[in-house]
Amino acid sequence: MEPPDTGCQTCGDEPEWIECWQCFGYGDFDLYEEDPLLYAPGQTAACDECNGEGGWLICRNCERNAPQHTAPHGDKG
Ligand SMILES: [Zn+2]
Ligand SMILES: [Zn+2]
Repeated sequence: MEPPDTGCQTCGDEPEWIECWQCFGYGDFDLYEEDPLLYAPGQTAACDECNGEGGWLICRNCERNAPQHTAPHGDKG
């Protein structure tokens, strides 16, 4: 079953799926993989960067005018 409308809400162009840079598109983290001493096997946490979605739909047309959801160019604090 396909979504009824996948076009950009602003310009109607077809948006592009951008995979979350923090969770690599999984939408959540495997905490046990991160630190087996602190977390139980199978314990996960939703990615706070993409709210568990695993990524974003970004329109190339509007991308230059919209906030970037891609990896930060340089985290200097
Ligand atoms: Zn657009
Ligand atoms: Zn994420």
